[in-house]
Amino acid sequence: MKIICVGRNYVEHIQELGNEKPDSIVFFMKPDTALLKDGEDFYLPDFSQNVAYECELVVKISKVGKTIPVAFAKNYYEQVTLGLDITLRDVQQKAKEKGLPWTLAKAFDYSAPIGNFLPLKSLNKDIQDLNFTLKKNGETVQSANTSLMINKVDEIIAYVSKFITLKTGDYIFTGTPKGVGPMNIGDVFTAYLEGEQVLKVEVK
Ligand code: MG
Repeated sequence: MKIICVGRNYVEHIQELGNEKPDSIVFFMKPDTALLKDGEDFYLPDFSQNVAYECELVVKISKVGKTIPVAFAKNYYEQVTLGLDITLRDVQQKAKEKGLPWTLAKAFDYSAPIGNFLPLKSLNKDIQDLNFTLKKNGETVQSANTSLMINKVDEIIAYVSKFITLKTGDYIFTGTPKGVGPMNIGDVFTAYLEGEQVLKVEVK
């Protein structure tokens, strides 16, 4: 299993971090050791002073595919949930300044909490019309609709599968909307997809 993450996929998030809108889809990967399941605690790593949450729609790949055309991409997933693309913002900033890879900032252990998957069919909505919300200690910090994505899920699948074969059970994080911020000890994060809580993470 691998975790593929898309960056810079919501305009207002690109603006809040002062980044440039990319010419093509930007993606990076996290290893399977980044996975943290719903309800498990997240321990702040001691190698960062600025650990940030990014709530994102996560798609689970349901069959193997290579060079998938956009028009057929919808046949490669059936379930969705929300996840946190936990990012060491200070480590990432240093990497960006030096033009170095983001691996340490993004791919460390437990940097990818993933919620309980819901069958897309049960939501009875288009994947590009899903509402999602992240609450920090009960207060909404991120709230968006997947229609705001710059690159749609099917375009992401088509693009990534040109270079990397997608396999059953792989996860795709599809980018975060505006409202990212710091994680501190004691914070409790809950994420809601179409109003249903799919993820809870407590920071220790
Ligand atoms: Mg992200």
